[in-house]
Amino acid sequence: MTEFNAFWVEKNDDGVAHSIITRNISDLPAGEVLVRVSYSSVNYKDALSAKGMPGVTRNYPHTPGIDAAGVVVESAAEGISEGDEVIVIGFDLGMNTPGGYGQYIRVPAGWVTPLPAGMTLRESMIIGTAGFTAALCVGKLQQMGATPADGPVLVTGATGGVGSVAVALLAKLGFHVVASSGKADKTEYLKTLGAAEVIGREELAAENKRPMAAETWAHAVDNVGGEILSNVIKGLKYGGSVAICGLVASPNFTATVLPFILRNVNVLGVDSVELPLAQKNVAWNRLATDLKLDNLESMTREIGLSDLSGVIDEIFAGQVAGRTLVNLQK
Ligand code: NDP
Repeated sequence: MTEFNAFWVEKNDDGVAHSIITRNISDLPAGEVLVRVSYSSVNYKDALSAKGMPGVTRNYPHTPGIDAAGVVVESAAEGISEGDEVIVIGFDLGMNTPGGYGQYIRVPAGWVTPLPAGMTLRESMIIGTAGFTAALCVGKLQQMGATPADGPVLVTGATGGVGSVAVALLAKLGFHVVASSGKADKTEYLKTLGAAEVIGREELAAENKRPMAAETWAHAVDNVGGEILSNVIKGLKYGGSVAICGLVASPNFTATVLPFILRNVNVLGVDSVELPLAQKNVAWNRLATDLKLDNLESMTREIGLSDLSGVIDEIFAGQVAGRTLVNLQK
């Protein structure tokens, strides 16, 4: 029986306790594909799971990790063979199924994406769910016909995981990217990723009772919600779109119908979790080809399982910038 290390979250009277424990692959749930995990990553949702949030994970003790990339060691699935390099993100991984913060996962074949040619396992997990979602947001804007000629594109929560990759992808595609951030000391970081301008989060956070504001943004990617999203919608130019995927500020936003019926603007919802595998695979292939980023390492720090607990606290303290790669073999 193969033993492996896993990050372990237990609920107790004081909240949650974190530890690294030894597990056995026979402890893993049924599934067609057993993967030896090389890398995972840290996303906002992982932090919620590790803090015991029932909206993400119902049953504890639990091993979070909504992302995993590694090598298949056993497969009962047609088309997936031992030795294949694969990516697993979304669906139930790391929510109520033991996730990528364990050195092995066992999952249904329908969750498994073959690693695209031209991408390493490391790159796939620097991207992770956050970067993958940024790519979905950019793809939705493109489906609406967005081009660099339309004008400036705003990215909110720009130093975060979704934000950093969104800035880099839009800049690669030639857009004039305006990054909105609460971290004044990260202006240089955002410019290195490709932001043409950086503005303070407070510029968008103030409550504005007017139904519309000056036409400012051709398009936007928003992962924070709340008052910021309300203001982004009011400030979209005629025909503009905002792709929305997150709620770090608030799940609520307010709007009147006026920007929609007078300026023809669009709110585009983006979900990476239940997106059908075939569509996930298309997006991963884009990230290895026309959306391939050559500056992924510049937004990344690498940690091991024993560093996870501290990083999760940093997320809630708003101290994290860019992507955190978890090396499971460290
Ligand atoms: P991160 O924690 O990496 O980034 C979030 C960023 O938001 C922070 O870095 C910060 O950026 C900004 N921020 C933090 N707190 C606030 C606040 N109170 N008000 C405004 N801005 C704030 O998270 P991720 O990038 O991993 O995820 C971002 C969001 O996207 C989350 O809500 C997550 O659940 C969601 N998400 C949704 C997915 C989907 O499928 N729909 C998939 C992946 C993520 P700065 O300091 O630069 O402003």
